[in-house]
Amino acid sequence: MADELLTAEHLVKRFDDNTVLDDVSLSVKKGEVIVVVGPSGCGKSTLLRCLNALEPIQGGKITLDGEAVVYGSKNLAAIRQKIGMVFQSYDLFPHLSVLDNILLAPVKAQKRKKDEAAAEAMKLLERVGLADKAKSFPRQLSGGQKQRVAIVRALCMHPVMMLFDEVTAALDPEMVREVLDVMLNLAKQGMTMIIVTHEMQFAKAIADRVVFLENGEIIEDTDPNTFFEHPQTERAKQFLNIFSFERSKKDEKN
Ligand code: ADP
Ligand code: MG
Repeated sequence: MADELLTAEHLVKRFDDNTVLDDVSLSVKKGEVIVVVGPSGCGKSTLLRCLNALEPIQGGKITLDGEAVVYGSKNLAAIRQKIGMVFQSYDLFPHLSVLDNILLAPVKAQKRKKDEAAAEAMKLLERVGLADKAKSFPRQLSGGQKQRVAIVRALCMHPVMMLFDEVTAALDPEMVREVLDVMLNLAKQGMTMIIVTHEMQFAKAIADRVVFLENGEIIEDTDPNTFFEHPQTERAKQFLNIFSFERSKKDEKN
C-alpha cells in the first residue's frame, strides 16, 4: 500500500538455534506511532535492530519507502540514514561538544555544509530546550539532557522515521518526563515512530497502535484503548497486571 512507510513480512531471526523472532509481520504507515511492549527478552530490541539492518535476518523481507532493506547490501548506508535510532545509552563522543556530536554525521556522512547543518542543529536544540548547551561537553549534562541531544543528533540526519529503544530506561525518574515530552512533540509534528518502552501511561498517550511481543511473536497488534482496557489475550492481561501492581507499589511508597 502506498501509505506504508515500513513493512516487515514474516521476519525470522535466530541467534544460533535460539529463534528470537518467529514469523513477525508489521507495517507502519507514514505518520503512525507504534509502541512495542513485551516482557524482557521477548525480542523487542532485536526487532528494531533487524528493521534497521543492524542484524542479518534468516527469513522474511523488510521494505522501507519502497526499497528493500538488506543486511550487507550496498545501499544500506543510505537506507540507514533514513531511519533514526535512539537507544538506552546515548553514545555521545565525550571529547566532542554537543554541537560537534550532532554535526558529525550530517557533515561527514551526508557531506552537508557545516554552517547549514549547524543552523539546523541549533534550531533542533532549541526545540528540546537545550540551545544553551551547544558548547557543553557530554559530561556536563544530565542523563535526560544527553538523551535529548541523542534525539537531536538523529533528527539532524533528516530521517523518514525514528526507532526508540527504551530511551528512558536508564534515566532517573525526574528526567524521564523531559525525554518523553520530546517524543510526544515529535508525534504531534507527524514523525513516524516505533517506540519500545515500559512507560505504560506514555504508551497509552502516544500510540496509534500497540504491538505486544512475547517469545518473538506478535500476540496483539491493536489500538491503545483496546490493548490497555480490553486486552484480548491472557498473556497481555498478565503482562499489564504486573505493571499496574508495580505502579500501585510505587504509589504506596510516595
Ligand atoms: P528485549 O529487547 O525484548 O529485552 P532482546 O531483543 O534484547 O529482548 O533479546 C531477545 C533474545 O535474543 C534474548 O534471548 C537474548 O538473549 C537474545 N539475543 C539478543 N541479542 C543477541 C546476540 N547478539 N547474540 C545472541 N543472542 C542474543
Ligand atoms: Mg531490549
